[in-house]
Order: sequence, then C-alpha cells, then structure tokens
Amino acid sequence: MLTKESLERLYREEDLPDEELAALIETGEFDDDLFPLAEKRRQEIYGNDVYIRGLIEFSNVCKNNCYYCGIRRDNRCVDRYRLEPEEILACCREGYGLGYRTFVLQSGEDAWFTDERICGIVSSIRKEFPDCAITLSIGEKPRESYQAYFDAGANRYLLRHETADPEHYKKLHPAEMSGENRKRCLFDLKEIGYQVGAGFMVGTPYQTTQNLIADFRFMQELQPDMIGIGPFLTHEQTPFKDFPKGSFALTLRLLAITRLMFPYALIPATTALGTIDPTGREKGLRAGCNVVMPNLSPAQFRKLYALYDNKICTGEEAAQCVDCLEARVERAGCRIVTDIGNAKRREA
Ligand code: SAH
Repeated sequence: MLTKESLERLYREEDLPDEELAALIETGEFDDDLFPLAEKRRQEIYGNDVYIRGLIEFSNVCKNNCYYCGIRRDNRCVDRYRLEPEEILACCREGYGLGYRTFVLQSGEDAWFTDERICGIVSSIRKEFPDCAITLSIGEKPRESYQAYFDAGANRYLLRHETADPEHYKKLHPAEMSGENRKRCLFDLKEIGYQVGAGFMVGTPYQTTQNLIADFRFMQELQPDMIGIGPFLTHEQTPFKDFPKGSFALTLRLLAITRLMFPYALIPATTALGTIDPTGREKGLRAGCNVVMPNLSPAQFRKLYALYDNKICTGEEAAQCVDCLEARVERAGCRIVTDIGNAKRREA
C-alpha cells in the first residue's frame, strides 16, 4: 500500500521497493506532495541554480532506423543536412558570448563524421574554449572511438538507454540494434572517465510500469551524472505515427521520482517537455529539474532536426532562446547560472 509515509521514505532513503514504486508511478494521487518534495531535494543540493547547455544539432543524417524517431534512415522526406566543422565552431563562439560554458554536440549516427573528424572538431573547441565542457551525443560507438574523443578533449556523453528491458528495446528498434550494446556503451563511457547521461522516453509504445522500474534499477546500477527524460512524441513519418504520445503528467511524476532517487543528478527540463505542454519546462523545474538546453544550432536547420512533430524553438535566434528561457526559469523560481555546471557529489 502506498501512503504519504512511502514518499517520506523515498525522500529519506532515496529508494522504494518495486511494489511501492509501481504504485507511485501509476497513481497521480500523491503528485501534490511528490512535486514539492522533489523541488525541495533539488534546492538542498543545487539551490535554485539552473544550468544551461548550448545544444548544437550538427547533422540529421542517421544510419539507424529507430521506429520512434523522425530522422530515421528510412524517412525519405527528411531534408538531410550537416554542419561543417567551421560552422559548429561558429555556434560555439556565439554561445560563449551568450554565457554558455557547455556545448552539446548532437547528431544522428552520421558516417561522414569519422572519428578523425569528431576528434578534430572536439580538439578545436577544446583549444578555443578551455573553460568549457564538451558534451557529445552521437550514438553508439566502439570503445576505442569513445576513448579517442575523450583524449581529444570531450568530457561528457549523453546516450539515453531508451529502455532497460531487452524485450521492450526490441519493440522500439530494428533487429540490428540491441539494448545490450547500448548499455555496453554507457559502461564503457563511464570507465573511460566521461560524465555520462542516460535516460528514456515516457510513454513509448508497449511501455509498462515494470519497464519503468527496470529503467530506475538500471540507472541505480549505472549511476549516471545526467538523466534525460521526456515524453514520447509522435512523428508522422515513422512506424509509430498512430500510437498515442506519452503522458505529460506521468513524465512530470517520473522526473520527480528521479530527483528523489538520484538527488545529485543533473536533470534537464527537455524540449520535448516544452513541446507537449506550453509551460512544461517550468513545471519540470518545479518538479526537480535543474538543467535547460537551449538550441544553438543555426535557425535554418532547426526544423530539419525533427525527432518528433511540432518541436518548439525552431524559429528563434540563439540569443532569443536564452531570453525566453531566462524568463521561464525565473517563473519557476529559479535562475540561470553560466557556470560549467558539473554534477555535485555527495560529501564523503
Ligand atoms: N543519435 C543520438 C541522438 C539521438 S536524439 C543517440 O543515439 O543518442 C536524442 C534523444 O531524443 C533520443 O535518445 C530519444 O530518447 C529522443 N527521441 C527520439 N525520438 C523521439 C520522439 N519521437 N519523441 C521524443 N523523444 C524522442
């Protein structure tokens, strides 16, 4: 049975047994207590500081065929683009001027960006911006590649595990992909010394409460520094176009549970959260999030990096994104800081 006492125990012990966790995930009854508790936990560790990460979506070319993703290989309607290394650097320069101290380079799995090219880009950014964190989010690679990027100067890597359950993973991806390899990647990244981000979508087709519990259990094992969680949103040109999108309420609830189970994690209020609800990111911050990731990609390419339909923030210039987010963050009682924003750690 789930009671208010369960919530207090979750806060205190940073964990709950499966049965209570399942009940908490499935009922909205405790949301009014859960969200403020998650916010309180965030405040105790991070205060009201919200870190900003400049997101550069540098290529929408992808060799993978994930059933949920709008830029999947078989989507012939996508206008494919890739930024030149020099253009990526120009985004970083603009971002630096706006106060960003973390650059997130994200793309599809695009073979044009060989390890050599990625290392070249990373080392130029590292040279020009020694005081910044370089985050890569470019998919599954051999360990040697991850090592090479790290040696070139990358320090963080975002690779959502998507779902920890191998059977569920198979329902979301074609046979040539495996959840096992994705997990292998995450452990490799961690061993190499990256700050690692895992995470999953909420409400993907066939997802069960037990799958979500498996996601939490997997993350307890991995202990990621960053946890990205957003609702599944449909894209018209994917095999999943007729499935319902994920629930906003459930996404917020899972974010709050995540804050309580992983007090020190960096948890972004994602673009998908702002897409499913006009004030979704503000509500995410009030439920324990502490990161926002404004878009630094050149405005003309943003619409083309369409993982799902109706993605927000595809019109504005980079500077406008900061202003808009600053206002949103303030409305959530927080403030943007231009710190490098490493994860805090529990005092020994
Ligand atoms: N190629 C990189 C980046 C993927 S895009 C990689 O493999 O990690 C970043 C994240 O967007 C994905 O990990 C996925 O969780 C999310 N995403 C993809 N399609 C989505 C959709 N239709 N709705 C919501 N989120 C989606």
